[in-house]
Amino acid sequence: PFEVLVVGGGPAGSSAAIYTARKGIRTGLLAVRFGGQLLDTMTIENYPSVEHTEGPRMAADLERQVRGLGVEVVTGQVAERLVPAPVPGGLHEVHLGSGAVLRARAVVIASGARWRTLDVPGEDEHRNRGVTFCPHCDGPLFVGKRVAVVGGGNSGVEAAIDLAGVVEHVTLVEFADELKADDVLQRKVRSLGNIDVLLGTATTEVVGDGSRVVGLRHAPRAGGEATVLPVEGVFVQIGLLPNTEWLDGVVEMTPSGEVVVDARGATGIPGVFAAGDCTTAPWKQIVAAAGAGAGAALSAFDHLIRTSAP
Ligand code: FAD
Repeated sequence: PFEVLVVGGGPAGSSAAIYTARKGIRTGLLAVRFGGQLLDTMTIENYPSVEHTEGPRMAADLERQVRGLGVEVVTGQVAERLVPAPVPGGLHEVHLGSGAVLRARAVVIASGARWRTLDVPGEDEHRNRGVTFCPHCDGPLFVGKRVAVVGGGNSGVEAAIDLAGVVEHVTLVEFADELKADDVLQRKVRSLGNIDVLLGTATTEVVGDGSRVVGLRHAPRAGGEATVLPVEGVFVQIGLLPNTEWLDGVVEMTPSGEVVVDARGATGIPGVFAAGDCTTAPWKQIVAAAGAGAGAALSAFDHLIRTSAP
């Protein structure tokens, strides 16, 4: 068995494994895809000390560092179930889709999240070519341009307010007949001169010119003619789905599936920690995930030195 098993090979899981491996703890890391969301990211310009990199390159750098520290890396395998240790200090089990079982005295859950997509024509083809999911990451790429934000919940409205300070003009598009964001955010959005709000509007296509986004086709939900809004960027903000289905009923989660953690990254189960986008941590960013992973690893270390095997 491992002393620590990390589930997830994104920034949170990699960082956790680096911290425990450097303490001489026998560490395993399980990931469907090493790198996680980094593999879908083009430009990264907000990681301190790294002025510019690309997601796949950062993923490869992390994997080299993790493997170089002697972490046993298992990729291409899915965790399907966590079975907590039956007694304090006992072994937790992670059951894989292949039928195999990995055991460890402490587990760090870092299985990340995925963005909910619009599933309209043009969206997939224009990912990183105008279609984006992260205003903090990609807002500065649209300085002086017109963009659309799809989604009128808190994240969409926050994105519109954020982007209004960076880009020339924002159109916020919401399917329902009203915004779902907090009142204070709605007031703010309506007070800004360069944001238009379209309610009751269905997004039907991301329009491109063969390489980049040039517009967003939309139609009144109640019926009527579709029009193309000329924009160079489309920020999709209709929800972030945590990859936590494998923990259903085992670990405490919010209604949206985020693993509830305390400031030390502890879940309610002794010896089970969590970090990154799969948790209640409010900021879903690489530097935040990496920091949380380090914290969860140090908490796992604390746990190991305070418990003995039964
Ligand atoms: P993830 O990166 O989601 O990694 C999760 C890991 O868990 C993966 O290895 C996955 O394979 C594995 N996994 C999931 N489920 C299972 C399972 N059941 N069994 C085994 N393994 C599993 N942030 C920035 O700071 N700057 C940016 O410029 C930036 N740009 C972005 C661009 C895009 C297109 C996207 C999608 C995100 C971007 N982000 C950016 C956000 C950033 O990528 C995430 O906040 C960060 O990757 C979260 O790290 P994580 O380790 O928590 O999860």
